[in-house]
Amino acid sequence: MYNDWEPVIGLEIHAQLNTESKIFSNDSTSFGNGDNQNVSPVSLGMPGALPVVNKKVIENSIRTGLALNCQIRNKSVFSRKNYFYPDLPKGYQISQFDEPICEHGFVEFNLDGKTKRIGITRAHMEEDAGKSTHHGDYTLINLNRAGVPLLEIVSEPEIKTPAEAAEYARTVRQILRFLEVCDGNLEEGSLRCDCNVSVMKKGAKEFGTKVEIKNINSFRFVEKAIEYEISRQIEVIESGGEIFQETRLFDSTKNKTYAMRKKEQAHDYRYFPDPDLLPVVFKQEWVEEIKKSLPELPRDMAARFQSEYNIPEYDALVLTQEKELASFFEDVAKLSKNPKSASNWVMVELQRELNEQKLDISQSPVSSKRLAKLIELIDTKVISGKIAKTVFALLLKEDKDPDVIVKEQGLVQITDSGAIEKMVDDVIAASPNQVEQYRGGKDKLFGYFVGQIMKASKGQANPEMINKLLKEKLKG
Ligand code: ADP
Ligand code: MG
Repeated sequence: MYNDWEPVIGLEIHAQLNTESKIFSNDSTSFGNGDNQNVSPVSLGMPGALPVVNKKVIENSIRTGLALNCQIRNKSVFSRKNYFYPDLPKGYQISQFDEPICEHGFVEFNLDGKTKRIGITRAHMEEDAGKSTHHGDYTLINLNRAGVPLLEIVSEPEIKTPAEAAEYARTVRQILRFLEVCDGNLEEGSLRCDCNVSVMKKGAKEFGTKVEIKNINSFRFVEKAIEYEISRQIEVIESGGEIFQETRLFDSTKNKTYAMRKKEQAHDYRYFPDPDLLPVVFKQEWVEEIKKSLPELPRDMAARFQSEYNIPEYDALVLTQEKELASFFEDVAKLSKNPKSASNWVMVELQRELNEQKLDISQSPVSSKRLAKLIELIDTKVISGKIAKTVFALLLKEDKDPDVIVKEQGLVQITDSGAIEKMVDDVIAASPNQVEQYRGGKDKLFGYFVGQIMKASKGQANPEMINKLLKEKLKG
């Protein structure tokens, strides 16, 4: 794909853990509060203020680590990462360095019909920094975010294509959302994705110099930014230039990355264990307890959907993108007793409507109960599949059960053979030319007759009965 070049990609994903209070203080993490309201001496970095670790952050980190197939360290250490920035009043960020809480995991996902496994090097706890907003010649600093818990999930440099990187990131987000430890909102920054990219000659033993692209706020841009960066690096090297280890930003309007700053090395940060915090130590029983409380994870759920509901893998993967969507589907499947039809209606008709109205499944204008009832009306031949679309459109607008709509609108399927026979006769009598052509061998005209009869019945005649009667009569 890139001639004799091979890209190497590794992702660092920062997930804000959605605890009610911050990682080292009882300051609120609520978004709704005014600027600099969620602060205390700890968040403000006052000298002498002491951090106390939030147990919920550790618990949620263990939950996530387990879901990412990591080994959980029963003793981990908080370290200071020293650097200066106006929104970091302490002059250091509390993070984890050589003894992170989670290590050696992996995630799996499907891409182009194949299962891909990407290694997770580590996942460590750290605090978020504050936020600077720049206004012309002055800058405002809001420390509400300072101390919000983050879990940084670091992948192995095993990702090989931009599409793989985006799918890996989507999968991590999906798992975080299933666990309900992070809302995964990229636009609001509760999930942030840094992409490390380098290129090397195919078959080379050593990686090339990597560049880090920061602050990309959608998975589509992850793909685009990496794509651009790969081409840029190949071009630079092929024209005799050199790649520098640096941090770059992605401009989504120009579809390009540009240099932001030279990348610091680990030794520039002078990491050392934070003397204000004890190591985090817990018993294995706690880990086992948390393991037992894990929800069903997306891939397991998708596998169960395939075997339990006998739906195709594709459907199962789409339906398990979001936990709420999956549970909506399960409700419809169980109530209608027709899982394949439930899957189609949820994935196609309902999903289209939700996308159009920019709603998520929890705001669905049609309840799972009503959608199941609609499927039942088709399966019991009260209405045809075609009329069902009409009923569905009405369900979106009216707060009524489908059977009520069918009755009120007189949409019940016509299965009276006498009535259908009359319509068939009428159409045949009105189309002598077509009848002659059909009998002369123009089979395609069969569809024309079906269409005419459907039209005459306003879509309500039972299609199988039309087919049967029409065939008999056209034989002549
Ligand atoms: P740093 O010390 O610069 O933070 P790390 O070794 O901790 O670098 O790796 C950070 C991220 O960069 C990881 O996701 C890792 O997989 C990825 N990475 C490391 N080396 C390379 C490389 N040569 N090319 C692309 N990605 C890399
Ligand atoms: Mg690193």
